[in-house]
Amino acid sequence: MTTTTGVSLSQDELAEIYVDLHAHPELGLQEHRTAGIVAEKLRGFGYEVTEGVGGTGVVGILQRGDGPTVLLRADMDGLPVTEQTGLDYASVATAEVDGRVTGVMHACGHDVHITALLGAAAALVDDQDWAGRIMAVFQPAEEPGSGAKAMIDDGLFDRFGTPVVVLGQHVAPMPAGSFGLHAGVSYAASEGMTIIVHGKGGHGSRPETTVDPIVLGANIVTRLQQIVSREIAPQQVGVVTVGAFNAGQAPNVIPETAELQVSTRSFDPAVHDTLSAAIERIAKGEAAAAGAPREPEIVSQYSFPLLVNDPDGIERLRGALTADIPGAMIIDQGVVTGSEDVGAFATAAGVPCVYWVLGGADPALFADAKTLEDAVAVALKLPSNHSPKYAPVIEPTLTMGVAAMRSAARAWLTIT
Ligand code: ZN
Ligand code: ZN
Repeated sequence: MTTTTGVSLSQDELAEIYVDLHAHPELGLQEHRTAGIVAEKLRGFGYEVTEGVGGTGVVGILQRGDGPTVLLRADMDGLPVTEQTGLDYASVATAEVDGRVTGVMHACGHDVHITALLGAAAALVDDQDWAGRIMAVFQPAEEPGSGAKAMIDDGLFDRFGTPVVVLGQHVAPMPAGSFGLHAGVSYAASEGMTIIVHGKGGHGSRPETTVDPIVLGANIVTRLQQIVSREIAPQQVGVVTVGAFNAGQAPNVIPETAELQVSTRSFDPAVHDTLSAAIERIAKGEAAAAGAPREPEIVSQYSFPLLVNDPDGIERLRGALTADIPGAMIIDQGVVTGSEDVGAFATAAGVPCVYWVLGGADPALFADAKTLEDAVAVALKLPSNHSPKYAPVIEPTLTMGVAAMRSAARAWLTIT
């Protein structure tokens, strides 16, 4: 690999970008400041930049000769979490969500992803020995699961070409300098929905004149617990969770409606379909059994596809990281029950997805860990992504994130 000192970012420059992004997080589809910074940096490196793709998404293109198009992805959104890291660059940003003011924080580490992709984009400009086309995709709204889809629906591949691979990374509390590679199904599919149950309200003393939506809703909640135990094979994994049940306001009034919020997780499309179909069947069946005046409404809130890592792609990445990053520690983190929408790009383009975990914890914390089990025990005690105390260490995390993304891109570009 050859590097000149052209536009590549130094550790200080990477840290400056990261600290600024960390202090100014924005919620999904509100990433205007962030997108502006990304666009300005990419233009400065020499990329052809398009803003406003799928809302606040940014696409940077760098073409050099004939060769494959490689999609490099970073997500840009923060979370409605009030930061408690105590860092001197901690966020004090706020936003209004459902009428309530909340703190906003890069609690999932997407600021690491943005900075690392900017660093890799710059380094690849300076690398003179490749041919192909880099498509740097900075997507909005990963957390609500809508951002990748929004960019695809806005004609991402029609407008900017179809890549041969989708590459991305997610920071996690493993030691910086380690990388998690897992082939096959890697992150769960997840769906969130609201079920509005319609009853018939009335006086608490005269239940015979009503259809009580609270009792109906309670029956639905209880019956939903039987889907996984009775309809999913013991070898399969499925989760159905009722995360909210809201109805009524007074002890002596039977309300008109009740609202349930339900989420599912699964690792197999057939299980996903079984869970979705059973939830609908049970909601409608219990409503009919209660004599409800109309069927419940089931409104989708979000939907994350299954993330499947291409096994050949994971092997190619393993070879690249091993060759390009001296001392890289590569582990297999197994299947993660969290969800990610990066796979939507690969599915829509019909190409492999290669998505890895980037260590972001201070390696010094793991100094006494002799075995992988010891290291896992240390990692489990650290604040996780989405915690108000989640705080990746700046270095060597950023340098490793840049190196990994650059190495991965080069593994799919044509090296001349
Ligand atoms: Zn997250
Ligand atoms: Zn995330």
